[in-house]
Amino acid sequence: MTICLGLEGTAHSFGAGIVSSEGLVLSNVWDMLRPDEGGIHPREASQHHAYLGPLLIRQSIDDAGISPKQIDIIAFSQGPGLGPCLRTTATMARSLSLHLGVPLIGVNHCVAHIEIGSLESGFNDPVTIYVSGGNSQVIAFAGGRYRTFGETLDIAIGNMLDVFGRHVGMRFPAGPKVEKLAKMGSTYHTLPYSVKGMDISYSGMLTSARRLFDEGLPLDDICYSIQETAFGMLAEVAERAIAHTKKNEVLLTGGVARNNRLTEILQGVADRHGARFHRVSPPLAGDQGAMIAWTGILQYGVGDTLEISSSGVLPKWRTDEQDIGWKE
Ligand code: AMP
Ligand code: MG
Repeated sequence: MTICLGLEGTAHSFGAGIVSSEGLVLSNVWDMLRPDEGGIHPREASQHHAYLGPLLIRQSIDDAGISPKQIDIIAFSQGPGLGPCLRTTATMARSLSLHLGVPLIGVNHCVAHIEIGSLESGFNDPVTIYVSGGNSQVIAFAGGRYRTFGETLDIAIGNMLDVFGRHVGMRFPAGPKVEKLAKMGSTYHTLPYSVKGMDISYSGMLTSARRLFDEGLPLDDICYSIQETAFGMLAEVAERAIAHTKKNEVLLTGGVARNNRLTEILQGVADRHGARFHRVSPPLAGDQGAMIAWTGILQYGVGDTLEISSSGVLPKWRTDEQDIGWKE
């Protein structure tokens, strides 16, 4: 049995998780920077990680009930993400790898979301809808890589919800508050619906939604309209990806996967195509270390390790730039 400690630190969250090669999550702890006002500042987030990282790593080892000597591999989120956060996390991972004398593995954050979702669902080959504060992608495996079939051309769906929320006085994260209000809304106000080929754009509808609020329209109706428009765009792209790839599994993951209305819509899409559907459970859907640890184990199995000298972070690392040798 191989045991991997995974460190996640691409954006506002820092996480440490320990997973065995049997796919058991032995521990998974994280903490998220929540600014009193405004958005996430990369430097503040990296200071949060530097301060809390060592405590969370210690806690993950204690929770797993192992000694540090039992750790066989260190994996870390090498990208994509915010440079200062990635560098802080990578520094911790390198130190641990050197100190314990164990291999270092660089994991792609988006690939990790898919792999932990596949582990939880038992899916082999899903179309994945990965929606979070920093990403909105429809991904499927083809030709040795996870290909992005569609994605946002500007801001991520979670970011759109958070920026709208900030405009109307909600604290970060706004997604859950928008969902709650949307349930009370009943009147749909048209917002720009922009699907371009397989890609999506959220900035136009964000601007329009803010304008509706400034004009004094009821907030619950605006929240309802935002959800129906934004989720409808995502469903259209997901449906085309399912129809095109003919895959029969659909995986919903990322922080925005907590949304019940989005889940209901995508479940409907999957049903129409006779595909199985799984929403990743909240503890494994957000950014956390277990997904990095599990993907680290998969990469270790195909010899995908890093030398310290070539372990620089990759802030713009795309999902389809990582060879997925373990699926061949
Ligand atoms: P992550 O980036 O994966 O940590 O996810 C955080 C994002 O998920 C933030 O943008 C939140 O606003 C969003 N979020 C969390 N819960 C919900 C929800 N119930 N509905 C919509 N968005 C949500
Ligand atoms: Mg994420």
